[in-house]
Amino acid sequence: MFSEARNDLTSMRICTNYSRNLAVVMSLNKSMHPRNRYKDKPPDFAYLASKYPEFQEHVHTNLSGRAVVNFKEPEAVRALTCTLLKEDFGLSIEIPLERLIPTVPLRLNYIHWVEDLIDGQKQPRRGIDIGTGASCIYPLLGASMNGWFFLATEVDDICFDYATRNVEQNHLSDLVKVVKVPQKTLLMDALKEETEIVYDFCMCNPPFFANQLEAKGVNSRNARRPPPSSVNTGGVTEIMAEGGELEFVKRIIHDSLQLKKRLRWYSCMLGKKCSLAPLKEELRKQGVPKVTHTEFCQGRTMRWALAWSFYDDVIVPSPPSKKRKLDRARKPLSFTLPHVAVKELQVKARALGCTGRHPLEAITTLVEKTLTELRVLHKRVPCREQEQSLLLTAMENTWIHGRQKRREQMRQLRELPRAHQSAAAAATTPSLAQNKHQDATQEPADQQERLEKVAGDDVEMTPGCSTTGPMDATSETSSKRATSPGSAEHFVLKCLLNVLHEESDAVIEMNWVEGENKDLMNQLCTFLRNTLLKAVAKSGTE
Ligand code: SAH
Repeated sequence: MFSEARNDLTSMRICTNYSRNLAVVMSLNKSMHPRNRYKDKPPDFAYLASKYPEFQEHVHTNLSGRAVVNFKEPEAVRALTCTLLKEDFGLSIEIPLERLIPTVPLRLNYIHWVEDLIDGQKQPRRGIDIGTGASCIYPLLGASMNGWFFLATEVDDICFDYATRNVEQNHLSDLVKVVKVPQKTLLMDALKEETEIVYDFCMCNPPFFANQLEAKGVNSRNARRPPPSSVNTGGVTEIMAEGGELEFVKRIIHDSLQLKKRLRWYSCMLGKKCSLAPLKEELRKQGVPKVTHTEFCQGRTMRWALAWSFYDDVIVPSPPSKKRKLDRARKPLSFTLPHVAVKELQVKARALGCTGRHPLEAITTLVEKTLTELRVLHKRVPCREQEQSLLLTAMENTWIHGRQKRREQMRQLRELPRAHQSAAAAATTPSLAQNKHQDATQEPADQQERLEKVAGDDVEMTPGCSTTGPMDATSETSSKRATSPGSAEHFVLKCLLNVLHEESDAVIEMNWVEGENKDLMNQLCTFLRNTLLKAVAKSGTE
């Protein structure tokens, strides 16, 4: 619980350093739920401080003039949570310093995932929050955002009193009912009076730590982890449960095996990744038909959530690993040419007659030369400033030779025996599984736009370098074969090659358009890299 608060807050602080560390923010944003309002818009501390005097007290200006909050002060953490709930959700809450102080962005991630599970953000839905805490944050968010009804359970007297008050002072008593339950049970007691109602979901932030040592981080995943950047705010029942979260969630699973279809979805947040596999195994052993999970990455560490259902007709959101694999399939292939290599290649290109002064121009010229030698059709296409783009069309695989080609053929024949005819013909076999994700519609938007622009034959080849001498001859050959790679009919591969800057290095990236299989692009990418690096090595020894 403690570390969850820490991570969530760490991530918010990372967010405030937006312009300084865009990469961190981007990776953080990617792992936030797409509907999370803080995904692309981290809290603006300066603005909030100007509007809320009680928050202003906890905001300082650092040396670079940025508004910052000290997350090691529980008062500051509490002030931020209360301020965000007020500003962004119109909620006024009170929380004692000695109980867990929830962090809003992470709680929102879980709420949005529950929306995905029950496939409905706006309809009246019924949920249970097991261990609602003093804040009663999930029911308050779910009720105010989506009009959900909640049964909120709690064992701790202080938490129960605060939660009840927080519901009342936000006039949400019609939607949220807080109940005190005995420690030993989870769902059974809360539901024993209401035998008829079917709940759409239950959610839970279980007490995370098995014992005091774990609570102090002694037994945590990574002993070298940096010290907590926010304070441990949490009472004994909040951060500890006998047997840790694993046992706590197993008890929920046990209850669910009796309650079965009384709830459409059962769900739980997990503080440790290692809890996920044994819990999934438990669900499998018990024959639970629908199981899924997700992950919420917050700054440097993560949280997981598990959900299961006894209904056959529920929509099961895919776990993130599958989505990530898809993302990877869409990513361009790329390699970097370090600054020194770029300098060498400039010299090389000049020797070949390239008069362009820009380093990217020189590299593009060398790439074009190699492509011409490979008889791969290519033409320059409009692109962003400071970049070069080539649309490539290969009519055959000319970059894998002899023994390597036969080895490749054998490999593909082994993998896809029934497609051997086309493999023999094209030296490569279409891999259906791969092609599934390789359609151009999955390219990023601006890439897609550019691909559409070059799809027809209406884009002129942009002469980059004034080519004289040896370069002339090769360009000539290429343009005689076909001047319009975009319109070639029988091809094995089409891709878009970009040459771009990354600080003083150059990066060549290749984006899939269409073709027989993505391995071809992989091989061509390797071939280009080796050719360019060989050229550097040669000029080094000359
Ligand atoms: N949901 C809140 C609080 C989570 S802390 C949040 O996300 O911020 C876990 C809470 O579960 C604590 O408030 C603790 O008192 C409560 N709890 C522990 N065992 C419980 C049980 N058996 N039934 C209900 N609540 C329990």
